[in-house]
Amino acid sequence: MGEFQIQQSFFDQYLGKLRHVAEIIDLAPEVVEILSKPKRTIIVSIPVRMDNGKTRVFTAYRVQFNDARGPMKGGFRYHPDVNLDEVKALAALMMLKTAVVNIPYGGSKGGVKCNPKEMSRRELEVLTREYAKALAPFIGPDIDIPAPDVNTDAQVMAWFLDEYNKVVGKVVPGVVTGKPLGIGGSRGRGEATGRGVFFIGLEAASKLNVSLKDARVSIQGFGNVAFNAAKFFYELGSKIVAVSDSKGGIYNPDGLNIYKVMEVKRKEGSVTKYSEAEIISREDPLTVDCDILIPAALEWQITEKNAGNVKAKMIIEGANGPTTPEADKILSEKGVFIVPDILANAGGVVVSYFEWVQNRMGYYWSEKEVDDKLKTIMVNAFNDVYEVSNKYNVDMRTGAYITSINRIVGAMKSLGWI
Ligand code: NAD
Repeated sequence: MGEFQIQQSFFDQYLGKLRHVAEIIDLAPEVVEILSKPKRTIIVSIPVRMDNGKTRVFTAYRVQFNDARGPMKGGFRYHPDVNLDEVKALAALMMLKTAVVNIPYGGSKGGVKCNPKEMSRRELEVLTREYAKALAPFIGPDIDIPAPDVNTDAQVMAWFLDEYNKVVGKVVPGVVTGKPLGIGGSRGRGEATGRGVFFIGLEAASKLNVSLKDARVSIQGFGNVAFNAAKFFYELGSKIVAVSDSKGGIYNPDGLNIYKVMEVKRKEGSVTKYSEAEIISREDPLTVDCDILIPAALEWQITEKNAGNVKAKMIIEGANGPTTPEADKILSEKGVFIVPDILANAGGVVVSYFEWVQNRMGYYWSEKEVDDKLKTIMVNAFNDVYEVSNKYNVDMRTGAYITSINRIVGAMKSLGWI
């Protein structure tokens, strides 16, 4: 290709992995074709009257990838970098994620290209309501069920639900998950992804004979997934040696008090304002000295440029797509045990599934019931993938893809699609 190298897109990475798995399990070409294309792609332009009186038009996406195993499920994010390729890739990952933990869903994802940090609460509410209105004909508890993701939270879900209810003229709590408790949310949903990451950590550590109590854990990010994961490891006694946010990172080899770090972040806007640590860059948590690394910010953080410097023996992917394929190769060669995103961060979608089940029953579980059920599903999924990886003599990512794709193919066969 000469000196010009075309960088693979996020969706290309998914396709590359799909083809790799197709060879291993001998998938028919038509199966690969179905799994290479979203079922439906929705792109809408949303005009919002901003606080300064001027109207801005935001581009919003929803990609509904596959519904062979059930209604489609996936969060939506607000971020300046949102684009169709990213949403498509994340929707495909959701299809795989729901299959790997064996909950009765397909996969989808959404996003609005915007910078929520520069928007007022009113502007975000208007944007969310307009997004809900635009998607209303294409979603529903039996069709496609959105949820929170980067920069979207329970409040955003509440606005979304309210607008959807107005459009359809009834109260449909199961159209969206990650809602506040008082309007049909589930106990345990807020911390579910972090808790799931922790359950996976426990299971992986027992397989590798690592003691989590003595482990040094480094985490990129300090949002929902990162903070909650940090909390459970910290409570067990692990040392959280580094965390970061979009403004930078902090490092203390003796361990950070993550509750104090959170207090500082809440008050002053960034973990970097925490005084009892050395300030590092937002990427440095990936390469500091530690036993377990949890990337829990955004995709494409561990690349061919920094993978060689990763010191962790185990990586638990809290974020979606944090490791590029080139980095994956380098880390594999170094013998790093990687629990892939579609397995490691599935706790959120599992408790979203519980929320949807509770909404349909109109009967709500205690936090303990939710946590126990989450643990069972995460532990079973980890062991399913571990077994498949051993059977095919492949890494955990490939094993997770094989596990999911076999389940999706089984459903497509039953439905007569193939
Ligand atoms: P969030 O918005 O709560 O947190 C994101 C965190 O990453 C923030 O602390 C932000 O400051 C930090 N960040 C952003 N850019 C950064 C950078 N360049 N370097 C370092 N830190 C940076 O989002 P979240 O819900 O915690 O999601 C994080 C990741 O986990 C995403 O990849 C998301 O898709 C994935 N995920 C989230 C859930 C969930 O339930 N929330 C479930 C599965 C996967």
